[in-house]
Amino acid sequence: MYAENQYEEFEKRMVETYPKMFAEPYGGFAVGPGWWTVIESLCSQIQHHIDWKNKQSEVVAQVTVNQIKEKFGGLRFYYSGGDDAIDGMVRMAEAWAACSCETCGAPGERRNGGWIRTLCDTHETERKERVAG
Ligand SMILES: [Zn+2]
Repeated sequence: MYAENQYEEFEKRMVETYPKMFAEPYGGFAVGPGWWTVIESLCSQIQHHIDWKNKQSEVVAQVTVNQIKEKFGGLRFYYSGGDDAIDGMVRMAEAWAACSCETCGAPGERRNGGWIRTLCDTHETERKERVAG
C-alpha cells in the first residue's frame, strides 16, 4: 500500500496546481493510489482546455470538483462547469481507470467479490488471500 504522507503530498500538489478546480469542498481523493495518475492527467487536460478556450473571453465555465470516488469498481468524477469536450475527457478517464488496478495502476480488470474492485492479478490474489485469512 502507500504511506499516509504520500496521500497528503498528492493532495497538496493537486490543490496547489489546480486551485480553481479544488476551490470548493470536494471530500478528498477517495480512491486508491493506482488511480492518482488518471486523476492528475484528467485535471491537467481539463484546466489546459479551459485556459486555452478562454484566452479571449470566458466561453467555458471553470470546472470545480464536487466529488471523486470509487463506485462499483469504477472511478466517479463529479464536477460542475465545463463543456462537451470536458465531459468526454471525464468519460475517457473513467474508462482508463476501469482497466487500471486501483492499488498500483498496472493493467487490471473488474473483480467481483464482497466489494467490486478493479485490480491487477497480483492485487486480486492478495485480496483473496486476505479474505481467506
Ligand atoms: Zn495492482
